[in-house]
Formats: sequence, C-alpha cells, structure tokens
Amino acid sequence: MVNQTNKNLLESKIIQRLDLSDLMLKLWISKPENYLFKPGQYCTIGVDGIERAYSIASSPDENFLELFVELVEHGELSPIIWKMKIGDKLTLRPKAKGIFQIKDTNYNNYLLICTVTGIVPYVSYVRYFLNNNSSNMKFHILQGSSYMDEFGYLEELMTISKDYPDFVTYQPTISRPKDTRNEEWNGKTGRVNIIAENYINQKQLNIDNTIVYACGNPDMIIDIKEKLGQNKGFKVLEERFWK
Ligand SMILES: Cc1cc2nc3c(=O)[nH]c(=O)nc-3n(C[C@H](O)[C@H](O)[C@H](O)COP(=O)(O)OP(=O)(O)OC[C@H]3O[C@@H](n4cnc5c(N)ncnc54)[C@H](O)[C@@H]3O)c2cc1C
Repeated sequence: MVNQTNKNLLESKIIQRLDLSDLMLKLWISKPENYLFKPGQYCTIGVDGIERAYSIASSPDENFLELFVELVEHGELSPIIWKMKIGDKLTLRPKAKGIFQIKDTNYNNYLLICTVTGIVPYVSYVRYFLNNNSSNMKFHILQGSSYMDEFGYLEELMTISKDYPDFVTYQPTISRPKDTRNEEWNGKTGRVNIIAENYINQKQLNIDNTIVYACGNPDMIIDIKEKLGQNKGFKVLEERFWK
C-alpha cells in the first residue's frame, strides 16, 4: 500500500486492454516521455489516490507500458482497473522501481520460476535480451497456475522457445488438472515448485552455472528458497507480489 498524496505523479492513460478471462487482463498504458525502467522493474499506478505496484512486461525499448493484472476480488485497486476503458486516465509514479533485475549476466542459466502474473518480469527479460544478449545466457522459465486460461504469455513464450531453443525454454504447468476449466490442457501438471526440482536434475543445472529467480505467490517463493536455496545452495532472487 502506498501513500496517496505524492504531488509529482505523472499522468498516463489506457491505450489498449485485452481481457483473457473474468480474472485476468492485459493493459497497455501510455509511457510518459523520459519514463525509464530496467527489465524486471515495476511501475506504481493509481486511480483516485489508490496506488499499487505492477511489474512491467514490456521491454524498455517499447512505446507503451504493458501490464498483466489479476483481479483480486476484495481488493481496492484491481476492481477499479477492471471497470476502466480505453482513454481512461491513471497516475504513474515518476520512477520505476525494483531490484528484481538481471544485473549479473555471467551465469549460463537463469532458472525463472513463477506463478500466474509472476511471469511479467520474465517476459520483459526475454523481450529485452532477445535483442541485447551478448553473452551465453539461457532462460529456463517455469510457470505454475491453477487454470490454463491464466497463462497470458503462453503463445509468445512458446513461439520464442521454438525459434530460439538455446535462449529460452518455457514449461507451463497447471495444479488442478481435473478441473473442467482445464479439460483441454495436455501439457504438464503439478505444482511449479515440484517441477522445478525435477527440472534442475534433468537439465543438470548446478550452483556454479545457474541462478534462480522466483516471482509471484509468497508460499511458492518460501518453498523454492528452502528447497533450492537452503538445501541445494542455489542463489535465489525473489519478488513477492503480496504478503
Ligand atoms: C513488486 C510488485 C509487483 C507486482 N506486480 C503485479 C503484476 O504484475 N500483476 C498483478 O496482478 N499484481 C501485481 N502485484 C500485486 C499488486 O500490487 C496488487 O497488490 C494487486 O493487484 C491487488 O491490489 P488490490 O488493491 O486490488 O488489492 P489489495 O487491497 O491491495 O489487497 C487485498 C488483499 O489481497 C492480497 N493480494 C494481493 N494480490 C493478490 C493476488 N494476486 N492473489 C491473492 N491475494 C492477493 C493482499 O495481500 C491483500 O491481503 C505486484 C505487487 C508487487 C509488490
């Protein structure tokens, strides 16, 4: 939760919205001139003084700020966002923030684990480093969701992983395979933290050539830190979306 009376707020407006389901949408908002951010950072947007942090899916060289938002039904801001339409205005804090970035490009493997909207910083990494990768970096993205319609970047990441298999692999997994919403799912099933442990063994990732990122649901992050960080010695960077 953020203070509501910041006088230096910038103005932004909704350029486009795409509803993926009743609970998930993508939003493209205007990027004020000179608004800078690094892949993996978040912006703070607000409506009527209610402000929240949202990670930015765009690469810094794109014209708009792309957000991927989940509706928290009893929340304050996300239900307001749900009612907004193209052209509506919002505030934007002047500085993007966050240290969930790729500062060390010397690892060979970046094991990027997330739940649902936690994919957002990884989309920004992929889009940016696809065009700016001077070293031997490979992104291994593992995303967990309850339902298949929550994978907002499935097509984009599948396509990039097919076209650039040495740069990205992407494994989405659902945790409720028997639910009718998942009838058409024929991909991986099971919780992403379990998949992550198996993935490390299969791909023979080790603590010298791999760094682990975990983003989204705090329970998943706590488990990853214990299993891969404390027990196996991997360096784990984290970004929790709520407490
Ligand atoms: C660094 C950072 C980046 C973030 N990036 C994103 C993003 O890319 N997309 C996105 O949708 N959200 C993101 N969030 C969460 C976002 O800031 C809001 O917390 C969220 O949209 C809910 O806001 P709200 O005002 O509707 O609910 P609030 O009134 O803030 O919260 C109501 C309750 O729901 C809990 N809660 C918040 N989010 C969730 C959730 N997803 N699932 C379950 N419980 C939750 C809160 O802890 C609180 O107890 C991010 C948060 C942080 C800190």
